[in-house]
Amino acid sequence: MSSNDKKGMFDWYFKSNLLIRILIGLILGGIVGVAAGESILWVSPLGSLFVNLLKMIVMPVILASLVVGAASINPAELGRVGIKIILFYLVTSAFAVAMGLLMGNIFKPGAGLALGSAAEAAGRVLKQPKFIDTIIAIVPKNPFGAIASGAVLPTIFFAILFGIGISYLKASSDDRIKKAGNTLFMAFDGAAEVMYMMVRWVLQFAPIGVFALIAVVFAKQGPKVVGALGTVTIAAFLGYILHVVIIYGGLLLINRLSVVKFFKGAKGPMLTAFVTRSSSGTLPVTMTDIDKNLGVSKNIYSFTLPLGATINMDGTAIYQGVCALFIGFAIGMPLSFAQQITVILTAVLASIGTAGVPGAGAIMLLMVLNSVGLPVEAGTPVAAAYAMILGIDAILDMGRTSVNVTGDMVGTTLVAKSEKELDMAKWKK
Ligand code: ASP
Repeated sequence: MSSNDKKGMFDWYFKSNLLIRILIGLILGGIVGVAAGESILWVSPLGSLFVNLLKMIVMPVILASLVVGAASINPAELGRVGIKIILFYLVTSAFAVAMGLLMGNIFKPGAGLALGSAAEAAGRVLKQPKFIDTIIAIVPKNPFGAIASGAVLPTIFFAILFGIGISYLKASSDDRIKKAGNTLFMAFDGAAEVMYMMVRWVLQFAPIGVFALIAVVFAKQGPKVVGALGTVTIAAFLGYILHVVIIYGGLLLINRLSVVKFFKGAKGPMLTAFVTRSSSGTLPVTMTDIDKNLGVSKNIYSFTLPLGATINMDGTAIYQGVCALFIGFAIGMPLSFAQQITVILTAVLASIGTAGVPGAGAIMLLMVLNSVGLPVEAGTPVAAAYAMILGIDAILDMGRTSVNVTGDMVGTTLVAKSEKELDMAKWKK
């Protein structure tokens, strides 16, 4: 036996499936919370620790991932195809958030939970910024100040401009500038990778953190939170399905493409995305099938699909709409109309910065919440509501990733058709 075969003391923990552990944390937290009642409140610092860990990573994740996302758009490729696909990705994402908000407004998940006290809610109402002020404040007077104080929208604004700048440097004909651009890109790419690694570390603590946060919620609220989570799941999945049927189905129809043939050809990547919960991981399947089954030419998909897997996340956008509303309802402070508009804006931008890996959307949700004045702070009702969502993230992630990948394929197919790069023979059979 080599030394590598030695068993670590915590292998049972670290080597078992993380999502199952988080789910167990949620369920155990619920049971223990109800059974032990207020006597379990001593676990609450473990929850606070988890919340602090999340807060620690959120700003660096936004900065690094958005810079890399924006810098991945090659200005040379930003011709007709690039503009078309980016417009498609952005516009459908905005519709997706709106769909999520619609579902949230219809189902009102979390309504009646009253995780927050009325007094606290009243305090928050006073602090809500006016919509026009939010818009003006998107441009940071001082980007470093914005980053340091955790102001999300201005940080996004700066990061995207900075990323676009890098993409131009990378494409420069001047060797020195090109090299500088590539170096900077690699540095941010490295930073983004490190941040994803740290996210994975932090998530190792999630089962314990979720356990503690949920136990406290159940101890105070009782089992009625289970119904709320069921409603969130139904609202999100209905949103996913309606978006696919209405928006994607409608766009295919308008462009005279058979909806049945499309989904027949797309089902492989859709299923792969569902089980892997990663758009990036699904990319090889998406590329193969869109070529083989749907006849899209490589000229188009070799650019649009990797870009889509990086910046186009309609499922994630729907999820963010539903969850932002859930958290508002759960703390007894439903989001106002202006706040919902802000959610559309931030969620579209957040979906650009969401990496195509499992669970990334839940981290970006933190940033959407920040933008409407609901930061996840240790010990607050928002943190409790967020932990509830995190407990079922695996289920929500399956559906949203599948929608993310479907959106990339629909956009790619439509752009290919408009560029006459679609082999129509594949659609006739
Ligand atoms: N898992 C999603 C994807 O890879 C991202 C997310 O967590 O929303 O597309």
